[in-house]
Amino acid sequence: MKINIGTSRVVLVQGDITQADTEAIVNAANTSLMGGGGVDGAIHRAGGPKILAACKAIVSRQGRCPTGEAVVTTGGDLKAKYVIHTVGPVWSGGDRGERELLAKAYRNSLVAARQKGIRSVAFPSISTGAYRFPIEEAARIALGTVREFLEEHPLAEVRFVLFSETDLHVYAAALRER
Ligand code: ADP
Repeated sequence: MKINIGTSRVVLVQGDITQADTEAIVNAANTSLMGGGGVDGAIHRAGGPKILAACKAIVSRQGRCPTGEAVVTTGGDLKAKYVIHTVGPVWSGGDRGERELLAKAYRNSLVAARQKGIRSVAFPSISTGAYRFPIEEAARIALGTVREFLEEHPLAEVRFVLFSETDLHVYAAALRER
């Protein structure tokens, strides 16, 4: 599924984000930036040790990555030239600012892309795996935040790479709602 927002394209596909050919892919990292399970583990495995080395250099310079913030590293052996590591919130019922923090993670990833002159970015479904954010609401926040950003700051493409067909359907429904 594909829509245009001004001159920018928003695309939803099912697949493995480590194979994406966008200029940057976004990692749903944790605050340690030291890798982990889920999409984080997959990105470090596919991209090789240069990514972790770059994460370690960032942590030694500026410490952990707070929830909602984003940092950029090399893409190592990936097709993507860059990985934007952001940290989504752990869902704990919705009373701890989770929605705002999720929006912040998407926004700051796009801000980081723009600062590097990156024109195409692929996102996974941040926080909806191990971090248990309800995906219907996460999809609305993700797409709404991206739309708002692109209305101000066009990019060539923002792609969502959803791991399962079910997740793709949830995002497609959220995109159609608007
Ligand atoms: P979080 O801790 O932010 O919840 P997870 O990695 O546990 O992150 O899950 C986020 C989403 O990423 C889930 O929907 C999961 O199915 C998905 N995912 C896992 N591996 C990949 C992959 N290789 N490509 C795209 N999405 C993936």
